[in-house]
Amino acid sequence: MKVLKFGGTSVGSAQCMKDVAKLICDGNRKIVVLSAMAGTTNTLVEISDYLYKKNTDGARETIGNLERKYNKVIDELYSTDEYKQKTLEVIKGCFDHIRSFTKDLFTLFEEKVILAQGELMSTAMMNNYLLEQGVKSVIIPALDYMRTDKNSEPDNQFIKNKLVSLLKESPDAEIYITQGYICRNAYGEIDNLQRGGSDYSASLIGAAINSEEIQIWTDIDGMHNNDPRFVENTKPVRFLQFEEAAELAYFGAKILHPTCVLPAKLNNIPVRLLNTMQPEAPGTLIYDHSSDGQIKAIAAKENITAIKIKSGRMLLAYGFLRKVFEIFESYQTSIDMVTTSEVGVSLTIDNTKHLQEILDDLRKFGTVTVDEDMVIICVVGDLEWNNVGFESEAVQAMKDIPVRMISYGGSNYNISFLVRREDKVKALRSLSHYLFENK
Ligand code: ADP
Ligand code: ASP
Ligand code: MG
Repeated sequence: MKVLKFGGTSVGSAQCMKDVAKLICDGNRKIVVLSAMAGTTNTLVEISDYLYKKNTDGARETIGNLERKYNKVIDELYSTDEYKQKTLEVIKGCFDHIRSFTKDLFTLFEEKVILAQGELMSTAMMNNYLLEQGVKSVIIPALDYMRTDKNSEPDNQFIKNKLVSLLKESPDAEIYITQGYICRNAYGEIDNLQRGGSDYSASLIGAAINSEEIQIWTDIDGMHNNDPRFVENTKPVRFLQFEEAAELAYFGAKILHPTCVLPAKLNNIPVRLLNTMQPEAPGTLIYDHSSDGQIKAIAAKENITAIKIKSGRMLLAYGFLRKVFEIFESYQTSIDMVTTSEVGVSLTIDNTKHLQEILDDLRKFGTVTVDEDMVIICVVGDLEWNNVGFESEAVQAMKDIPVRMISYGGSNYNISFLVRREDKVKALRSLSHYLFENK
């Protein structure tokens, strides 16, 4: 059975929901994972923010506006009074629940409950629409099977056992609808898989049922060879290896959540990226195939901090790097890029929560300098070192841009440049020009 995930824009209006319904009703049984309607999760974050700030008027007004938007969609979506009423009741229940938090103190747990309402509403709406159309559809509640363990990692065994038994309870269903993004933690509390995490839900579900294919349906025809928000004339990449897709997702290609590739790769399940607005377009297929020696795409990851530690003690010494890395480990801060020289090491982090403590500790080992607001530009492809020439092409593209660090050889799949934020777009465009347009 295939798993199809539809993102926020794909279910962003009554018409979009109708289009998705048409697309999924092809006679094949499937699991359909839905995000919240576009903009909803952001608005729920805004509501939570008002509640933290004890601005109940702001919260109530925002809740009211969002509820009116939903009521309008319901009015357009259903043709019968029966289903309009049924759905209005469910949605009113969700909004009353959100409103109940305007009366008391607000906790972190309650924010997660509020954030969960977006996916709970979109799935209820789609399921009712399918039922109204006479489709055998059923909701498989994510909160009943999607669970993380004490380390906030997916509890794969639990997910598999529970999901399989829930699916067995509805043997006649044609469409199983479930929520992306939301889950319960090891203590049974409502939680989520981080913003954009519906992609992760889909691949965890695909892995749990050993699906033949995971499809991520969004608003663009697959992974493009550069970020279409900043570069013109980008083109879809037809095929990617799992490793290439993982690098691109990690280094900023928003179309895929960074965590989404691993479960598919581990279980060797192909992932297809498809366009809901143009379903006939071939999109991108991510699967295990042999290398082809090509540069595939470029992505950028923002909010990077570079740290350089210079020390005479590093010269001919052993154990220096271990001591440096241990400091980052002790503050649970992961490192993205590393470059070394005879007397120093430069590295980057994106989580600056413990930056001050890290810098204090590092100063015991040498002179420390920090560059904030940097961007990693990542060129991804099958860049095995015997495929000569691509590094020089990439470096050539950066000839007019100040580059703080270059990293290559960590894997066969990427070469990364660290540049200032103000040079990001120029770097992306220049790389596209040198690597793709000249070909
Ligand atoms: P969804 O809501 O369906 O999950 P997202 O907004 O998370 O969709 O991801 C799709 C968006 O990702 C596209 O609209 C596009 O602007 C952006 N994007 C960034 N980089 C890329 C890329 N390399 N290829 C395709 N889309 C990209
Ligand atoms: N609705 C969630 C978000 O906006 C999850 C998702 O769309 O993937 O982050
Ligand atoms: Mg997304």
